[in-house]
Amino acid sequence: MSKQSRRREALVYHAKPTPGKIKVVPTKKYATQRDLSLAYSPGVAEPCLEIEKDKNNAYKYTSKGNLVAVISNGTAVLGLGDIGPEASKPVMEGKGLLFKIFADIDVFDIEVDTKNVEEFIQTVKNIAPTFGGINLEDIKAPEAFEIERRLKEELDIPVMHDDQHGTAIISAAALLNALELAEKKIDEVKIVVSGAGAAAISCTRLYQAFGAKRENIVMLDSKGVIRSDRDNLTAQKAEFATDRKINTLEEAMQDADVFIGLSTSDIVNQDMLRSMSVNPIVFAMANPDPEIAYDLAIATREDIIMATGRSDHPNQVNNVLGFPFIFRGALDVRATKINEAMKMAAVKALADLAKEPVPEQVNIAYGETRLAFGKDYIIPKPFDPRLISEVPPAVAKAAMESGVAKEPIEDWEKYKDELMQ
Ligand code: NAP
Ligand code: MG
Repeated sequence: MSKQSRRREALVYHAKPTPGKIKVVPTKKYATQRDLSLAYSPGVAEPCLEIEKDKNNAYKYTSKGNLVAVISNGTAVLGLGDIGPEASKPVMEGKGLLFKIFADIDVFDIEVDTKNVEEFIQTVKNIAPTFGGINLEDIKAPEAFEIERRLKEELDIPVMHDDQHGTAIISAAALLNALELAEKKIDEVKIVVSGAGAAAISCTRLYQAFGAKRENIVMLDSKGVIRSDRDNLTAQKAEFATDRKINTLEEAMQDADVFIGLSTSDIVNQDMLRSMSVNPIVFAMANPDPEIAYDLAIATREDIIMATGRSDHPNQVNNVLGFPFIFRGALDVRATKINEAMKMAAVKALADLAKEPVPEQVNIAYGETRLAFGKDYIIPKPFDPRLISEVPPAVAKAAMESGVAKEPIEDWEKYKDELMQ
């Protein structure tokens, strides 16, 4: 399909038959006068009074508990950059669609017209009573770090910036499995991280939580290797600055075991790949074009274990494997946070699932014949029906064990059955 016809197809998809991708649908009867007097005045006053007495009753009488806000100010949209709040709306609606189809979570997409950190935080705080959770989306770094930190601290519902943690969770699952295949240990491998933005920082922090050693990590930004003797480093970059006296990606790649790309297209060449150690793990995740093209990388080294952000190659690091299921688990125990323990539980659940035999319907959905754990299948596929029954319970359990669940689950079998309906 030509670029022109792909473009037309996407525009028609969004415009017809109804503009946009989501709508609001009533969940109660509305056929009679009696129904209407319950749905609205005077009947509606009763739940209002119950909620006035105890705010927690909002979870009982309103849709709050299954409603997530996908909120952006449009400053870092996909790979398109700062395109503004209105232009970010198709992406936010798209996220709403994914939340709904993968985890039956309803979404209001909210596009906020401010780049001011404080103003953005206050806006989200002021509308938080409506929601059971907040998914921050496509907000530029470093502002995104501060926005998420403050909102997590100041709100008592789960808040997650998906561009940071979604990618971290999926890529960490892929990394654990790739390391197993490469027969390497996470606390021993040398890791090169290209990029120091929202995604790269958060990924690297999560790999550390799984045992990666800071002294084995070299991070690069658009100016080259982030050295501890460089001036004017942001706090996040300083966290990963290296004492090694090297400057270039080429130098960093020498003998590295793992390359994590969250930067920009085509900056890794064949010689760099050749200089990596045996069974190199290369996650080139810049979108839409990776740090090195998949076909070129595969042609360069037979022993490579490769992942990208693209759906047309094996091992797509796709956030949709994470956010619907993480919020599902968090909402279902009414977690006050999405904390490290919950993220790590999601990572383990995803990594473990990739090692299980693959149901035939997944093979069919992806036009494959025999997907099985190995170099070309280190993470589950989004249309795997087991994701909904495996990941949310793991997240919910971790929320309970880490003390952030307000409504613990008691009957896990029943919960799993409900998830699969
Ligand atoms: P971001 O916050 O804008 O960060 C981009 C980072 O890349 C910045 O630190 C920038 O350096 C650095 N950079 C730019 N050119 C570079 C170069 N030539 N060499 C090394 N570093 C360079 O963006 P983000 O949200 O973290 O996303 C980064 C990339 O990852 C994008 O391509 C995005 O599409 C992709 N991504 C993929 C997935 C996925 O596959 N699931 C998920 C998230 C993000 P400075 O700090 O010096 O500006
Ligand atoms: Mg995003």
